[in-house]
Amino acid sequence: MKILFFFTIMLFLSKAQAFTLNNNASAAFENNEVSINVDSNGCASLSVTAEEMLGYAEAAVEKFWNSVPTSRLKLKRGTLVNAASAFRTDLICQTGTNCTPNPALAVESNILIACNNNATNFSNTASVLGVTVPNNISGRNIVGALILINDNGSNTFESRSYDEKVAIVSHEIGHAIGLGHSPVDDSLMYYQSVATRFKLGWDDIDGLTYLYPTEQPFSGCGSIATENQGENLFILFTGFLFMLLVGDLTKKYLGRKKSF
Ligand SMILES: [Zn+2]
Repeated sequence: MKILFFFTIMLFLSKAQAFTLNNNASAAFENNEVSINVDSNGCASLSVTAEEMLGYAEAAVEKFWNSVPTSRLKLKRGTLVNAASAFRTDLICQTGTNCTPNPALAVESNILIACNNNATNFSNTASVLGVTVPNNISGRNIVGALILINDNGSNTFESRSYDEKVAIVSHEIGHAIGLGHSPVDDSLMYYQSVATRFKLGWDDIDGLTYLYPTEQPFSGCGSIATENQGENLFILFTGFLFMLLVGDLTKKYLGRKKSF
């Protein structure tokens, strides 16, 4: 009986969500296609060229974010753009705020990756590899987002393997499209050890699908009948479990009566 009870509870708990969002508005890009551009000035301290960074971004979207059939979002390799020098030196958030974006670094559209050496952005200059904020939001739409890679020479981005760099950039892209950290430790959006992730976890997929759901094509009455059938099957299955539970209790009750 205990197993049956546990199974019934699990049936209802299995829809719980764990992913978080990185803004209060549940904002997401309105366009289905979003480009990832890179500051052509590259990194001053890290031995990573702008062209290489563009390559990491391209690999990141192909390997991770573009592989989810339930998401409408298609990220694509953008171009090298000559960003203002403030992108390489300035704060990403205004001082003393819980990240109110610095308007001087607002990204006009799409996603921009730049290398930045501001020590306040990277409070731990060795271990924080990047910071990201959708810093141009209109209502519930992300218009532009900024990814800053830690360009302080002491951090470990440079010494990571190719796959690890791709995973790190991919985690930052997750923030740029509106996702926060996940408490589920096999997710790319888990706050630690992102470099060891080589595919999305179910929680990343849930978060992406929540923000960027694909629209179901209308296929006439057939699809409505199929949905009802699914619901009916679910009700039948739950009813069956309930009957088993009642049967089990009745047996127990009768069993007890007999013993008197
Ligand atoms: Zn993060």
